[in-house]
Amino acid sequence: MNPSDILKKYFGYDSFRNGQEEIIKSILSGKDALAIMPTGAGKSLCYQVPALLLSGITLVISPLISLMQDQVKSLNEAGIHAAFINSSLTEAQITKALNLAAKGTYKIIYVAPERLESNRFMDFALNSEISMVTVDEAHCISQWGQDFRPSYLKIIEFINHLPVRPVVSAFTATATKEVKTDIECILKLNRPNVVVTGFDRENLYYSVEHAAGRRKDAFVIDYIEKHPGESGIIYCTTRKNVDSLYEMLFKRGIPVTSYHAGIDNNTRKKNQDDFIYDRAQVVVATNAFGMGIDKSNVRFVIHYNMPQSMENYYQEAGRAGRDGENSQCILLFSAQDVIIDKFLLDNKNFEEMDTEDIELIKQRDSYRLQVMEGYCKTTSCLRNYILEYFGEKTFSPCDNCGNCHRDYTEADMTAEAKWVINC
Ligand code: ADP
Ligand code: MG
Repeated sequence: MNPSDILKKYFGYDSFRNGQEEIIKSILSGKDALAIMPTGAGKSLCYQVPALLLSGITLVISPLISLMQDQVKSLNEAGIHAAFINSSLTEAQITKALNLAAKGTYKIIYVAPERLESNRFMDFALNSEISMVTVDEAHCISQWGQDFRPSYLKIIEFINHLPVRPVVSAFTATATKEVKTDIECILKLNRPNVVVTGFDRENLYYSVEHAAGRRKDAFVIDYIEKHPGESGIIYCTTRKNVDSLYEMLFKRGIPVTSYHAGIDNNTRKKNQDDFIYDRAQVVVATNAFGMGIDKSNVRFVIHYNMPQSMENYYQEAGRAGRDGENSQCILLFSAQDVIIDKFLLDNKNFEEMDTEDIELIKQRDSYRLQVMEGYCKTTSCLRNYILEYFGEKTFSPCDNCGNCHRDYTEADMTAEAKWVINC
């Protein structure tokens, strides 16, 4: 079978999307790969398809238990033998999974990076044919990335221990130069095929509104009432904000639900499903909402507060318009947001990291916050601001964002003013 047959047979799709085929083919030719593609572009298929064609096992290193569970579930439903090994399993379940894995039952095994240090796992890996090691969410390896995980630094040691070096592929949606260099160096990618697909999401209309307190509430209500039936996400920085905004919208009779880590598991799952299956038009949530959620018809993402970085903003706003239809990404900015973000960063929990690392991360957090604030305050093209931050060249203003349109309004007003004066 070739990659297109696999795509059709297991995933039910007729054609590859931009970048997918190139990565798959280069992996199959034995080359390392680094793919930088925006959220929703379809990175998973880029390693799942070759995994089915390579002779041995593919190990996928993934940072989040829920992501592994979702992916394995859908692979199994598609008839693919896949499993995950992480701390959500009991010791007995891990033994069972490793025994089955050692017999070659699974083509794809998802593991948390910490697992690579376990002797039992190493034993299994040393005695199996590992064809590929895939590092998903590879920006976690970089202290420049927004969610650095020290355990990602162990991946290379693990690879070095294997009797035959597998193909190594890395995937991320974070495209800054620093992160890219870190991934290549720390994972010691061997002359990788680097594929960067464009970061522009043409169907997204970005805008920033300067509004504080009540004006934010008024904006949200007005927006929802003017867009009846349109599915949307409203992100707030704090759980408290989520609760109060939810309450207010609920009282207005808007079909709304809410999501944050303080809501108990069952209710949270139910709320998430209500949104996904369109029983609730709007979800008010913290940034705990969204990872691994694949809802295509989200028409708007409103940020009630400024997020802490462009990486976060791009990822969260990017949950709008996955179906390619026009969608709005609106950020409601107030100076108070910056103060809250600074407070949250100052009180970030670093657990067992070295003082030196903590210092470095703090500097970078603070830089990222400044860039984010810059986005809220710029009067130039917002799309270009995003693209340039992610290292893309831009040529002219997009004519499809709040600032580009605002410029025109101002230009018109000036013309009108001139006319009045001339008269
Ligand atoms: P990413 O990891 O890049 O954020 P995913 O791998 O989660 O994105 O894929 C996002 C969605 O796109 C999934 O629902 C996936 O099934 C779908 N998808 C991926 N490749 C294709 C394709 N070639 N044709 C149609 N849909 C695709
Ligand atoms: Mg992904």
